[in-house]
Amino acid sequence: MSLRFEIRKTNNAARRSTLHTPHGEVETPVFMPVGTAATVKGVPQDLLEQLDVQILLGNTYHLYLRPGIDQIRKLGGLHRFMSWPRAILTDSGGFQVFSLSDLRKVTEEGVTFRSHLDGSSHFLSPETAIGAQIGLGADIIMAFDECTEFPADRKRLRDSMEMTLRWAARSKKHFQEHKSEVPWARIYPDYYDDVCVCVGDGQASKNGARVIENDDLRLPAKAQALFGIVQGGMDHALRKESAERTIDIGFDGYAVGGLSVGEPRALTREVVESTLQHLPKDKPRYLMGVGTPEEIVEYANLGIDMMDCVLPTRAARHGLLFTSEGKISIKQARYSGDQSPLDPSCSCPVCRRYSRAYLRHLYSSNEVLSQVLNTIHNLTYYLDTMRRVRHSI
Ligand SMILES: [Zn+2]
Repeated sequence: MSLRFEIRKTNNAARRSTLHTPHGEVETPVFMPVGTAATVKGVPQDLLEQLDVQILLGNTYHLYLRPGIDQIRKLGGLHRFMSWPRAILTDSGGFQVFSLSDLRKVTEEGVTFRSHLDGSSHFLSPETAIGAQIGLGADIIMAFDECTEFPADRKRLRDSMEMTLRWAARSKKHFQEHKSEVPWARIYPDYYDDVCVCVGDGQASKNGARVIENDDLRLPAKAQALFGIVQGGMDHALRKESAERTIDIGFDGYAVGGLSVGEPRALTREVVESTLQHLPKDKPRYLMGVGTPEEIVEYANLGIDMMDCVLPTRAARHGLLFTSEGKISIKQARYSGDQSPLDPSCSCPVCRRYSRAYLRHLYSSNEVLSQVLNTIHNLTYYLDTMRRVRHSI
């Protein structure tokens, strides 16, 4: 296995851990800001470092369409392309294909779809999605799955889950066969000198690196990790079966997918809780695409280690700000003469320096800086929320 996951403390179901990735350590439970197109919209990388972001999420679908996987690979992979030396997780592209693209056609082989940018036709399969993620070179990559819609009847849920399981096995097979093609190998020959590019059978890898099984925990993690995704909709029995059979295939970590697709929040929580019972305790658990500040605290307390959501960044661009005193819509006229900081309990660079009146002015004048400052604050709020959760464990 290529990912070290060190559980340092537990408190009931919650765990405080360190993920050792090829690009640094990540303290969990962690909230991962979404950097869709190789950027967290509006926030430069040096500032993300200042905010102590340890891991970013990149969207394979968007990067695949623009600027293209080959282009990023030629430029040294996603870390070097966007000048982000810390950890990155990429999704498989599946979710965006299902939510953004037009004219999807799903077959056993994969998904044919039209780009939401220019209508061009593309094909994503377990093999091409894993190949794309190896080309991008994220530290953690995801198996290609079908995100089942909500609501769906039991037959549809089972058929979809079965296909996701077959796709998971194909994802793993392709990963095993091609993981030594990660772009760090070529761009960072020194870095990859003594690397364990695990091909599993002791053969030398293409780049001539010494190849050993990376089960030796004394070695730093220097290879990509692949996570499997549990599906099964809102059906507890199918979730259990999906978890068990995904674990049988064997992954470095496990994600709970197929949630936040329009179901009531109480149901999301119920499914998360029941799915977690079936996941191995010694592997990282990633809940995809959630949630509000209250929800991420709740899920961390249930034993989730990793989460991502566009909410803090997207809401910020619409002037919706999360504060210790509740949500604030900065567009409201009541803030036009308000000299107080956005959130008196927040120590982010925005709250330390600017007034609500100024932030309201920037928003109503449609200034670019409005989106930048709002995003910095909201991200800080989410990151601080997780810091507090870690300290409480
Ligand atoms: Zn702030």
